[in-house]
Parts: sequence; C-alpha cells; structure tokens
Amino acid sequence: MKFPSILAALLVLACAALGAPVIVIDAGHGGHDQGGMPGQRIAEKGYALDVAKRLDGVLRRSGFRTVMTRKGDYFVTLSDRCRISNAQSKAVFVSIHFNGAPNPDAYGIEMYCYRGRESAALADRIYRQLLASTGAPGRGVKSRSLYVLSHARFPAVLCELGFLTNRGEARRISSSSYRQKLAEAVGAAVISRYR
Ligand SMILES: [Zn+2]
Repeated sequence: MKFPSILAALLVLACAALGAPVIVIDAGHGGHDQGGMPGQRIAEKGYALDVAKRLDGVLRRSGFRTVMTRKGDYFVTLSDRCRISNAQSKAVFVSIHFNGAPNPDAYGIEMYCYRGRESAALADRIYRQLLASTGAPGRGVKSRSLYVLSHARFPAVLCELGFLTNRGEARRISSSSYRQKLAEAVGAAVISRYR
C-alpha cells in the first residue's frame, strides 16, 4: 500500500465515522438513450459519464465513499437509479447532465432540486461554485419535479452543465480540461458541504 492509498483509506474511515453520506453519482442517460434533443449532433450520454467519472475521482481522493449508478455506456432506468441511492443508509444524489434546446443560442449552467431544504442548499452551493470556476453564465437554480429528484429519499440535485446545442459551449465542453474543471467545481461544493 502506497502512502497516498493509506491516506485515502484513513480519510474514508474518518468520513464513515463522522456519518458522511455516500455520494451517489448519476451519469444521465446511457445505452440507447443518447440524451439531449432528437438528432442532436453531440451525444449527451458520453460527456455525462465522463464528468461523472471525474467527479468520482475527485470525491474518492478526498475520502468520500461514492457509488455510480452507471459506469459504462449502458441503459439504467430512472427507477433503478433511485433504487441504488435509496438503498444506502445515508446518501446524497448528484445527477450529471448536459443541456440541449431547439434554440441554438441557449447556453449556460443550471441546477435542479425538488424536495427539502438540504437539496436546495446543495444545489445552490454547487451552482455558485460552477459559475465561479467556469465563468459560464448562470440560468438559475430551479425547482422541478424530475423523476430522480421527486423519488429520492435523500437530498438530490441535478446539474445541467451546459448546452451541447450551443456551438461555443459545446466546443468548451469537448475539452477534457474543461470537463475536469466542471467535475472539480461540483466536487468542491460537495466536499465543503459534507466533510
Ligand atoms: Zn440529460
């Protein structure tokens, strides 16, 4: 065991001892479900999974226990995504998506939450961190009864990390360093709230 892995193991134990929640990372879509608009040129599912994996790395390195609802390009139903999270003894559900719109001028970052004060507080923190880290325009933190939010037993948020239907924003998102920045921003907000 290398020193960093010992350190990571100790951090995991410390977090578990303090009752830190498991962070359930939900990469939107997958398999036959490409995400986005019908006929959208850049598929949402791949970028969502990429950022989800990067977020998983950020959180694990900080000692958090994580669960991913999918780790590859396959389809997972919305109810199974919720079941994975709701089966934990204590969890926080963070869903990762990219946006799409018929209007190619639409761009920016938005967050969704639905139930409970903690979901709203976490959504707000992630949103502010994302805007600060990326300089992307904000479209707000919105309350909407999306399936994965309304069926969540624990705090749950959904991140829309930019529009793949906007040429400029899609170009930014296609860069791996930008996707790392997105993951680190979401991660920093989660870490500061639950550590
Ligand atoms: Zn989506």
